[in-house]
Amino acid sequence: MQKADIHRACLICGSTALAGMPRYSRHHLCRCKSCGFVFCRPVPREEELIAHYKSYGRNDYLSPVTVKRYHELLEIFESLSADKFVSNSSSAAAEEERGSAVPAPLRVLDWGAGIGYFLETARERGWEVYGTEYTEQAVAICREKGITMFQGPLSAVEMPENSFDLITSFEVIEHINNPLEEMARITRLLKPGGLFYCTTPNFNSLLRYYLKDDYNVITYPEHLSYYTPDTLHRLLRDAGLKRIFMKSTGLSITRFKKSRKTSEEELISPVSTDERIRVSAEKKWYMKWIKNGVNAVLSATGKGDTLKALYRNPGKP
Ligand SMILES: [Zn+2]
Repeated sequence: MQKADIHRACLICGSTALAGMPRYSRHHLCRCKSCGFVFCRPVPREEELIAHYKSYGRNDYLSPVTVKRYHELLEIFESLSADKFVSNSSSAAAEEERGSAVPAPLRVLDWGAGIGYFLETARERGWEVYGTEYTEQAVAICREKGITMFQGPLSAVEMPENSFDLITSFEVIEHINNPLEEMARITRLLKPGGLFYCTTPNFNSLLRYYLKDDYNVITYPEHLSYYTPDTLHRLLRDAGLKRIFMKSTGLSITRFKKSRKTSEEELISPVSTDERIRVSAEKKWYMKWIKNGVNAVLSATGKGDTLKALYRNPGKP
């Protein structure tokens, strides 16, 4: 049997001072002594990845709360691109009437677009939408929805430099073990002033401290990189991007129960504990108040489940 190859240097800072993490040895984790980044030491073989992703169940449940969150996010992106933003709204029509040239709509690339839910929401608001995905099935579904798709890693994106006003990646970077390469591509593809938004599990989350190696986010070969607010900032800063915000939010009761193997509920489902809390926080002011309070504390301490980072490409000086 071919022996798995291993990483000999930190994936984000290049240091070769790597320490094993005995408590997490069944997940093959190591920590960089120089920058603190945690990642899987073995490089998974192609066959391992194919076998794993073959059994990867796709969950197509789209929560109405998620759609609302997408709109809120897009509003933020649009306000930060305000000088350029033209939607299919009346302002574009007014411009046209005045006879001036109508600027092109904002262009977004969703790295790991899934089956296109985020991009569909963006398109409704007037964005021009592009995506990447690995599986043929997901690419086909997105294409059927009229989304321009590229199959594979970011190197498959056949677009010139400075093409995008926004690149998003929801829960993608934990799956890859070549973040420097992919970030260099992101910076190239972003226009000067363009935005990069990403989410990823937080290795510093309260749940991970409590559950240790039972925390079910830690899973080889699905997740290969484990970020904290500091290491994610380092990656994005070294790629030449400037921070707008870095938050860590959420405390998943469903994930806690699943990690402890006390529940069979699906993580993303209309009846999961998390979803019921999300829906109720939308409807009841006091639940929203509690949720916002919990998230404020989690973000201030850097202990929430999910990191959410928004950075800007300052462009060449
Ligand atoms: Zn390092």
